[in-house]
Amino acid sequence: MTMAHVTGYPRIGADRELKRATEAYWQGSLDRQALEATGRELRLANWAAQREAGLDLVTVGDFAFYDQVLDVSVMVGAVPPRFAAEDEVARGEVDLDTAFRMARGRAPSGAPAAACEMTKYFDTNYHYLVPELHPGQRFRLSSTRLFDQVEEAKAAGHAVKVALTGPLTWLWLGKGRGDVPEDFDRLALLDGLLDVYAEVLQRLAGQGVEWVQLDESALVQDLPLAWRQAYERAYHRLQAAPVKLLLASPFGGLGDNLSLTVSLPVAGLHIDGVRAPDELEAVLDRLLPHKVLSVGAIDGRNVWRADLALWRERLAVARMRLGERLWIATSCSLLHVPVDLEAETDLSLELKSWLAFARQKLDEVATLARLLDGRADAIDRERVEVASRALQARREAERLHRPAVAARLAGVSDDDARRRRPYAERAVAQQRHLALPLFPTTTIGSFPQTGEIRAARRAFRAGDLSREAYEAQMREEIAGAVARQETLGIDMPVHGEPERNDMVEYFGEQLDGFAFTRFGWVQSYGTRCVKPPILYGDVVRPAAMTVRWSEYAQSLTERPMKGMLTGPVTVLQWSFVRDDQPRETTCRQIALALRDEVLDLEAAGIRAIQIDEPALREGLPLRCAEWQGYLDWAVECFRLASAGVRDETQIHTHMCYAEFNDIIAAIAALDADVITIETSCSDMELLDAFQDFAYPNAIGPGVYDIHSPNIPEVDWMVALMDKAAERIPVERLWVNPDCGLKTRGWAEVEPALANMEEAARVLRQRHG
Ligand code: GLN
Ligand code: ZN
Repeated sequence: MTMAHVTGYPRIGADRELKRATEAYWQGSLDRQALEATGRELRLANWAAQREAGLDLVTVGDFAFYDQVLDVSVMVGAVPPRFAAEDEVARGEVDLDTAFRMARGRAPSGAPAAACEMTKYFDTNYHYLVPELHPGQRFRLSSTRLFDQVEEAKAAGHAVKVALTGPLTWLWLGKGRGDVPEDFDRLALLDGLLDVYAEVLQRLAGQGVEWVQLDESALVQDLPLAWRQAYERAYHRLQAAPVKLLLASPFGGLGDNLSLTVSLPVAGLHIDGVRAPDELEAVLDRLLPHKVLSVGAIDGRNVWRADLALWRERLAVARMRLGERLWIATSCSLLHVPVDLEAETDLSLELKSWLAFARQKLDEVATLARLLDGRADAIDRERVEVASRALQARREAERLHRPAVAARLAGVSDDDARRRRPYAERAVAQQRHLALPLFPTTTIGSFPQTGEIRAARRAFRAGDLSREAYEAQMREEIAGAVARQETLGIDMPVHGEPERNDMVEYFGEQLDGFAFTRFGWVQSYGTRCVKPPILYGDVVRPAAMTVRWSEYAQSLTERPMKGMLTGPVTVLQWSFVRDDQPRETTCRQIALALRDEVLDLEAAGIRAIQIDEPALREGLPLRCAEWQGYLDWAVECFRLASAGVRDETQIHTHMCYAEFNDIIAAIAALDADVITIETSCSDMELLDAFQDFAYPNAIGPGVYDIHSPNIPEVDWMVALMDKAAERIPVERLWVNPDCGLKTRGWAEVEPALANMEEAARVLRQRHG
């Protein structure tokens, strides 16, 4: 029998029950017991769904109140001293509140302390808490949560497989902090860590667990030699554990780690058959005769229905060669897709028939396994039929393949992606056109999304507020924002984005080719969930999207009003993207739609246009060898969107981070006239990348950290800009916050911007 399982299941609940309960607990309106009860209910429901679908094993260990990587840190006792949990670690039970304090700096009990760093998990939009490591660190088993959950699943009568972040990937994701260099020799900690993993495996075996899946996605990245060797050392050591290990490598191909991986002494491998279908054969050829191979055939990263008939064919040989040693699974944890398609009552039936969310993917896994065994029942056969028909319809659907879009793309020339003149000449034309002072001031786009704005949007969406009334209110907001900026003296004002719910959704809703779910939530971090649009068809802009708002804002001031768009790479990156054509083709389509918007803005008298690309960096592939290919098309798309304007029209871009060292050439290749970035926390050292590269265009290094409620001092901002001026010629420096202000209140924003203006005045005197 071909075993069916998933590498993980979403824990937030179909109705985001976990989010609600956890936030209520933080606020004090739900007690610990009730929170734990919600967790238990969700786990039981998820296991029941897996079993009901016909999976042979349910997965335990994928549940976490905040983050599964954090839970491993807690389990091995890697709790930094500032959380004052020495007793808890010694006792072997770190409190849930301690874990919450590590995640967010505070919890209902315990003293607040600086939270651990959070960052993106491999190439997903999920964020994990970075394990904080230091030389000489000791580990010890410090939580029984995992074992309790195993008991829970067994008590409910399930056959259990445990899933955990593997020891090397946990170390790989970890870092030094503060006085400890980020990249100190973490491998020196391996032996101590393995002691705890061995103990965990031992206890799981004692509970009757047969299989433990260790997620080792570090194997799909470029690994230094020492790390490759450490894999051998670690898994030879863990070989002695009385459980069977399934070594999983989701999110990509194994590449040059393939031989290493197949030779490790584990009972089974799980590979990502969706991202790297071409490695299947090589793995099959090298797999030792006793090992299990779990093929991740069902896409855990995207929402499209699987082609079951195709997979049956693709895996027929593997089934023949491996017999019952072939397992079927999702490519990665279903954490990265929404929970249940059934809840979507507003999607067109056609689109719905092309999709599968987590619950539906369980059925796909189970059916595929039975198909391969030749024990498919009537329901399975029907499922394959329905899938094949739906996929056929999707291939032929007219709204997916619009000849005009293809023709326009085919007609794009190199000139379309190039400004007419080089930056130095454009800068002169722009200065004439815009008449800006030295150290011009601007903001990143959004202003506080007040309770009134959100209430108006809710009422409008619910049908309780007419479009006219809603838009009138938004115009009032804009007028208010423009007036405040006039008073403050901001040189390049913005309209403030009150009419935008979300920087991608706002554009997706106005473009053809996008669909929106009602409940398609995916966990981004902790209790934060996002609802990415589904980009299913060719992208067309039926009408201008932002022009009337920007035009209106410009009519209220003499100063150059900055138009505000979300860039093509960011729209792509934050959506579920169609899988029937290369991502770069889809991105070019978005770029051309935005290009039309840019030109319409220019024609409407907007003299500066910002195209945000906060997601450019996170689109980088996991393997360095693939970076350049990605950057080439990503840059081209930005340029396609932006390069159609006249010399005197100023193109801005914004990125919410400051790590540019390794992509600075691509950043320069965007050829934006002005780039605003996040630097306020790093003392401007991050400008070194720009200085070393002799970055030629203008830069606005954020001087004001919008993530903090504190009002930045004038002197502090002046000092930061002085440091910037040591690295970048003053004629090319702008003064601005480091990101949009929508999460702040006006009570903070107004004095902060007044100080920023004052700082600019000081700088003009000093450097003018
Ligand atoms: N223009 C957007 C804003 O100001 C940019 C948001 C972002 O950088 N993520 O909100
Ligand atoms: Zn930003």
